Amino acid sequence: MIVTLLGTGDSPGTPVLNCHCRTCEDARKRGWERKRFSVMVQNSGKTVLIDTSPDLRRQLLDNGVEKVDAVIWTHCHFDHFGGFGEFYRVQNNVRVYSTPQIHEDIGRFMRFLTYKTIEVEPYTPFTIGGMDFTIFTVNHPPVSAVGVKIEWQGYKVVVSGDTNVHIPEESMKEMQNPDLLVVEALAPTGRFKKHMNAREALSLAKRVNAEKVVLTHLGHFYPPHHVAAKNYPVGEDYQSFSFGEGRLDEFFGD
Ligand SMILES: [Zn+2]
Ligand SMILES: [Zn+2]
Ligand SMILES: [Zn+2]
Repeated sequence: MIVTLLGTGDSPGTPVLNCHCRTCEDARKRGWERKRFSVMVQNSGKTVLIDTSPDLRRQLLDNGVEKVDAVIWTHCHFDHFGGFGEFYRVQNNVRVYSTPQIHEDIGRFMRFLTYKTIEVEPYTPFTIGGMDFTIFTVNHPPVSAVGVKIEWQGYKVVVSGDTNVHIPEESMKEMQNPDLLVVEALAPTGRFKKHMNAREALSLAKRVNAEKVVLTHLGHFYPPHHVAAKNYPVGEDYQSFSFGEGRLDEFFGD
């Protein structure tokens, strides 16, 4: 099983349009960016996307992905579903998994597209490509939002989705002891109603006893990436984690 962070940015991405802060200018100078949020999970020739970033066409091209077998939506914010139409013209009838509420919320924007809506409830596992997925409720007011747990051959990966620290107890149980926790941390410090800062995300990682943690959904509030990476386990676009034969390997796209 391979897990790839297709986009590690927050909703405006980095660099932010019209922003000339140190981080955005550094990214421009290096031709570097954080695309919008999506996590790709692959196994046995099947590709599952957790969220469909507005940058999806570029992300799929760069990663040589020719077909998406299923999508799981975590919530109705544009940076998490806006790119669904990016592959729709070449591939329709994609199976899309989410809760009835999230399908209803995103469905309002998707009236002109047809896709296979599959309604799943939190805490009820379903299988795609030999992998077991379970969604769990998180806290991202005012919208309904979920995180995703993936289990395969004894490995466990947890993707927090967009959430603040107040995650329901039942979800905390689902999140326990992951080999990899992909957790959102919008900014290094500061208090947010809908999101976590890096300190909160890292303390969550401790509480769930994560073997390895990578921060995502990162805003330009962090210093330039090479500086931030010295202080935090900040993720980066196209960073991949492969699981198999009793080990977790990590590699970077170019
Ligand atoms: Zn978001
Ligand atoms: Zn900026
Ligand atoms: Zn959001």
